[in-house]
Amino acid sequence: MRSSILRRYRNTVWILSILLLLAICFSVFLGISYSRQQTEIQQLQNRLTEMQIDLCELQDALNLSKNDRALQQEKFESVQSSYEQLQKSYDSLLSSGVENYKELESEYQNLQTEYDILLHRYQEYKNTVKVAYLTFDDGVSVNTNKILNILDEYEIHATFFANWQSWGQKWYSEIVNRGHTLGNHCASHDWEDIYSSPEAFLQQVTLYQENVKKATGGYIPQIFRFPGGSNNTIHKNYNPNVMPAAIQSIRELGLTYFDWNVDSGDAERNHVPAETLISNVLTSAKNKKSIIVLMHDTGAKDTTVEALPFIIEGLRDQGYIFSVLTQYTEPIQFRKQ
Ligand SMILES: [Zn+2]
Repeated sequence: MRSSILRRYRNTVWILSILLLLAICFSVFLGISYSRQQTEIQQLQNRLTEMQIDLCELQDALNLSKNDRALQQEKFESVQSSYEQLQKSYDSLLSSGVENYKELESEYQNLQTEYDILLHRYQEYKNTVKVAYLTFDDGVSVNTNKILNILDEYEIHATFFANWQSWGQKWYSEIVNRGHTLGNHCASHDWEDIYSSPEAFLQQVTLYQENVKKATGGYIPQIFRFPGGSNNTIHKNYNPNVMPAAIQSIRELGLTYFDWNVDSGDAERNHVPAETLISNVLTSAKNKKSIIVLMHDTGAKDTTVEALPFIIEGLRDQGYIFSVLTQYTEPIQFRKQ
């Protein structure tokens, strides 16, 4: 009697142990296949992110084109919309499980092929085009609207590396809404505020980001220009060691900084004759393929406004088309660290 109870007890223990072992094996199996799926999803996500960056670059690039635009734009839009659909299926896949992963993967391959062809055609086109990026520093000012109106008249876009002027809040939205890039040039332009320490510098950069975000209802600048340029010597009067840390914090904030390769000369002094500014730009633009033109948007730079239509026309005559700087544009940087 006793031994039969003991036997039954042993059998139960055996069965339970086997069941437990099976359960463990099953969980390990589930765990492995789950983590493999997760890795695959992660890889797909990385490729989609890369592709999103490529597409932004391509869109930016295609916006440069005037003559070939109709042809390329149509093709581009079809790839863009397939891409957006793919992104949507990917998102829903993530929330609903991963059964359709293989299908999505093959859709992605097709899109990638189409995209590569488009990119190749674009690169061939790009080799033949000259691009001018007009940039206006130190705004906003009483001249901002005049500059915007001239740009509208010529149906071109430019880049504004502004400071923060609380009186002129509406102009930040105006710049963005009229299709231009709004960059960061620190909240203040006071050298001591900016370059006295890495902390003071960072504070000026982030204060501008926050204020612009509020004033524009959510626009976050992605590009930056150092007051005085990245190779300025002015910082040495306040803190000779500030630049490496300042450059580092710009990178950490995810901002791309831009200097220039054509200087209008309007910062030399106020009221430099318009003819001088025009000649500075047009002479310096000769024999270049891509130019970033330094100009200023302040109340005292009235001759910059006066010169602007002639600068635009002169550059057009030299074969330039106009575009905006973005985080995807190849930067010009005087100082790298
Ligand atoms: Zn400046």
